[in-house]
Amino acid sequence: MKKHVRTSKETGKTTLLFTIFASVFFMCFSLNSHSYTLDSPSTWMQVPLNKIDELNKKDPALALAFSKKLFDRHQQKMTDFDKASILSKMAQHNYILGHYNVSQGLLDQAYALKVDLTTDVGISLLLTQGGIMDELGNSEQAMVKYSLAAKYAKANENSKMLADSYSYMAYSYSINHKDTQALKYYHQAYLQLEQIGDELDLAYLKAEMANAYSLTFDDINAIKLAKEASDYFSKHQYYFDELFVQNLLAKIYLRKKDYQKAEVTYLRVIEIIKKTNKKEYIYLAYLGLANTYHHSQQHDKARIFWHKYQEQQPHYENPSAKIGAIILEAKLALSDHNITAAIDTLARVEATLKPLDKQNALSWYVQLFDLQAEVAVLKKDFQTAYFKQKEARALLKDYYNAERETIRSKYKVMFDTDQAILTNKLLEQDKALNKAALDNAAQQQQLQNMIIIIILLFVLVLFYFIYRQILNSKALHKIANTDTLTELASRRYTFIYAQKMLLQAINAKQQFAMIIFDVDHFKQVNDSFGHAGGDIALKEISSTANEYVRAHDILGRIGGEEFLLILPEASSAQAYEIAERIRHAIEHKVIIINSKPLQITASFGISQLTDKQDSFNQLFNNADMALFQAKDQGRNRTVIANET
Ligand code: GH3
Ligand code: MG
Ligand code: MG
Repeated sequence: MKKHVRTSKETGKTTLLFTIFASVFFMCFSLNSHSYTLDSPSTWMQVPLNKIDELNKKDPALALAFSKKLFDRHQQKMTDFDKASILSKMAQHNYILGHYNVSQGLLDQAYALKVDLTTDVGISLLLTQGGIMDELGNSEQAMVKYSLAAKYAKANENSKMLADSYSYMAYSYSINHKDTQALKYYHQAYLQLEQIGDELDLAYLKAEMANAYSLTFDDINAIKLAKEASDYFSKHQYYFDELFVQNLLAKIYLRKKDYQKAEVTYLRVIEIIKKTNKKEYIYLAYLGLANTYHHSQQHDKARIFWHKYQEQQPHYENPSAKIGAIILEAKLALSDHNITAAIDTLARVEATLKPLDKQNALSWYVQLFDLQAEVAVLKKDFQTAYFKQKEARALLKDYYNAERETIRSKYKVMFDTDQAILTNKLLEQDKALNKAALDNAAQQQQLQNMIIIIILLFVLVLFYFIYRQILNSKALHKIANTDTLTELASRRYTFIYAQKMLLQAINAKQQFAMIIFDVDHFKQVNDSFGHAGGDIALKEISSTANEYVRAHDILGRIGGEEFLLILPEASSAQAYEIAERIRHAIEHKVIIINSKPLQITASFGISQLTDKQDSFNQLFNNADMALFQAKDQGRNRTVIANET
């Protein structure tokens, strides 16, 4: 399916500054080749149907002429579906060319053939029907037809037809001043067509969208799209469509008061018309130029082109199409000070405006009242001038409200789009941030875990070292305080302990005694059993003596075979008893060394704390002296030191 560019119906809305325009009824459309899904034309028809489409690309009038010939000559051979296909195309082509009555007649003929409306041919009938309804001001019913068409196109999975349905809807919204909706549906159509990738169809759509944008005063987008479309048409020599797009561009330039560009573009329109042999459209350019010159104060040139336009003036089926031209005529009459002609012309404007919806023709009315006021001033009828001006101002306010609404719609579209983009961006950002936060949290968690592990390891290592240190110091302590052979207290430790306990006893006024004993004739043991044998004997003697040691007592080895027993809270008598017990135990102990028995004795000396004898050295010497006495008296005995 292929359609042509439709340019918007001129209404008061867009044309206050820019008065004339008749391009109105070139809301062009045509239908071309179909792929029939539910029903299809005869095989032989395929070639001529394709030819109609090819001709249509160049010029719908050519396609129409060919269709007519085909229909007249081969009607007998055609099935009902064949006929409907051609009638549908002819209806479309007439619609494009603005022949709505003819088009409606062809549609009725097609309906009479009972075409299934869900087929592609049916859909194109619906769209053409809607288009005509729109032109006759019945947009509500038109929308019903378009919606049906869209529904069937969707069911047939025909993206082109669907795009067309959307574009018809958009166009309808556009001419009904619902710019937001219009742009929305144009974009829907655009999305469909972009998927198919048909550049020609896209160019048609771009041209229409350019028009919609121009209605929302978005000239930047309008000019961009119009240029893209006209470049395409120009490159492929689709002059019929380029004509309308260039015309649209010129209108936009004129509204922007860029009179130079407007003039150049209208001259391009004339050039195209000469190329296409479409003389009937030249009035478009003449009227545009007349308008351009009028606005740029070149009244002579304006008049020349106005007259050229008059000579070419077409027959309008749409009455509102000619208002712009008549208003310009009135303006020109006024600039000539031809009051009679101006009054006459303005009466025609009024008559033409009468059947139109005032709300949709506000700017025309404003201009009419302004011109009537001007005429009244010239006639020195100032009261009428005043009232007309007042009326014009009131309408102008309405017009500006309408215009504001238009601009508001435009910004709403932009706002909605921007908002959607922004929301998407924010969502993306949020997602990224959340992800980063999660990653960060995970990293932090990992880091924390690692720190905890490191700290735990550190603590463990620390504990290990402390533990080792304690063990070491304990071992060192033990080494320092223990005699390695006998495992009794060392000499050093025994002396320190003894001094400490002695001090306590003095302070607490308690008793305190000590025993020194020495093994008798130990040299002989070494001699008989060897030094190692002597060591064994020393160990045995030590453990034997140790059995008689109480909780607070301490037994230390203070020399080779000399021992010191500290007895806190003991008198010399008590010490004597203990010494005797140890002496007996040693005496009766049989030590086996290398399977040989050994019996041995020891001698004991005792001293005790007294008022006079209260230093460790005194006590030790006393005990040592007693031991000497014991040895002297024959050994194997206990002697208590003299307390003098
Ligand atoms: P007495 O005390 O009865 O007068 O005679 P004694 O033979 O025990 O004489 P003295 O106390 O003078 O000699 C001690 C000897 O003990 C000297 C030394 O060879 C020996 N001796 C000292 N320390 C050790 C040791 O750790 N192991 C061994 N096997 N012998 C030692
Ligand atoms: Mg000795
Ligand atoms: Mg000895």
